[in-house]
Amino acid sequence: MKILLVEDDELIASGLQLALGRLRHRVEWSADGQQAQRLLDTEDFDLVILDLGLPGKDGFDILGHLRMAGSAVSVLILSARDGIKDRVKGLDLGADDYLTKPFDLDELLARVRVLERRRMSSANHVLENGRLALDLNAMTVTWDNQPVELPRREWMLLRLFVENPQRVYTRSQIEDALYGWSEGTESNAIDVHVHHLRKKITPDLIKTIRGIGYRLGEVA
Ligand code: CA
Repeated sequence: MKILLVEDDELIASGLQLALGRLRHRVEWSADGQQAQRLLDTEDFDLVILDLGLPGKDGFDILGHLRMAGSAVSVLILSARDGIKDRVKGLDLGADDYLTKPFDLDELLARVRVLERRRMSSANHVLENGRLALDLNAMTVTWDNQPVELPRREWMLLRLFVENPQRVYTRSQIEDALYGWSEGTESNAIDVHVHHLRKKITPDLIKTIRGIGYRLGEVA
């Protein structure tokens, strides 16, 4: 899943990024409520793990804004506020789950799995754009209805572009999405993945934006 982690405690955030990244989730981290709000306004996420006490903007305000705007993204509140009133308020505002700190990592991951299953059983599993179709469950891709074999990183990279077809990604944003923060990468790793994807699918698949990075190209 594509997860937005909104958490101003760096220790908790880095631990969660690592654990969720190992499970092949793509995690973006924001330590500031305002910045998280901007990300939610401009990008699609499958799950938001939301702290309540945040600089910039309170977690309840972010959640309220999301639901007012009609967003159906899954939200798991992760907060030190353990009073019944806060839990009820969070659920009433539209949170899918509420876990209090200190928390057990295994329990959090189990709750993430529940939300993922719920989402998968209700959502369309196939992401289509032009001649491309990505099956998010099977992690497979077809081009003109023909299957294309892709290793995991190339598949993740393609998914990133297809999920956000208008967005231009810098190399470092792609590295964060594909590798997380903990792994070092070869400096040209992203260019190599892009080269392979173009070769396997079509040269126009990914457009180079000079001096910036890449975006999805012509797939119609
Ligand atoms: Ca906090």
